[in-house]
Amino acid sequence: MGIEEKLPAGFLLSTVEGLAGYMRKASMWPVTFGLACCAIEMMAVGTPDYDIARFGMERFSATPRQADLMIVAGRVSQKMAPVVRQVYDQMPNPKWVISMGVCASSGGMFNNYAIVQGVDHIIPVDIYLPGCPPRPQMLLNAIIELHKQVQSTPLGVNRVAAARAAEEAALQA
Ligand code: SF4
Repeated sequence: MGIEEKLPAGFLLSTVEGLAGYMRKASMWPVTFGLACCAIEMMAVGTPDYDIARFGMERFSATPRQADLMIVAGRVSQKMAPVVRQVYDQMPNPKWVISMGVCASSGGMFNNYAIVQGVDHIIPVDIYLPGCPPRPQMLLNAIIELHKQVQSTPLGVNRVAAARAAEEAALQA
């Protein structure tokens, strides 16, 4: 009897998925990207005080084509919205998004025509981080929570297509 016949069904697939999830979460590269004051706190996580390097994330990628995490740090103006979407589209799959601060998540205090009232109007968001601004420790906590999602994402799942389907279902409801 071969070893695969002795193992429980799905054992090898779940092991490979677990390994892939671990490698994905241990080597995320955020895209170099900041929109407003929240970006100052985001930059602080790269300093020795907060040490994002311990998560393998100290390399903020200057090109979206080598990034798998977008941290939307700050308010999104209407003029910047197409740029944010283009940067997101240029990132390869699988990719994740943290909406950092109330401005990015809901427009915050900028309830006016110039600001997008939530970045999830233009891209799918995985983690919403409250605060104005969120402290670097809060961003690190959001990253740890995101790592749990990344670890449990099955292989071959098109998260972007799933997010679009959910958006369309919400619009039709
Ligand atoms: Fe600035 Fe506060 Fe808005 Fe962040 S949430 S961009 S700190 S006003």
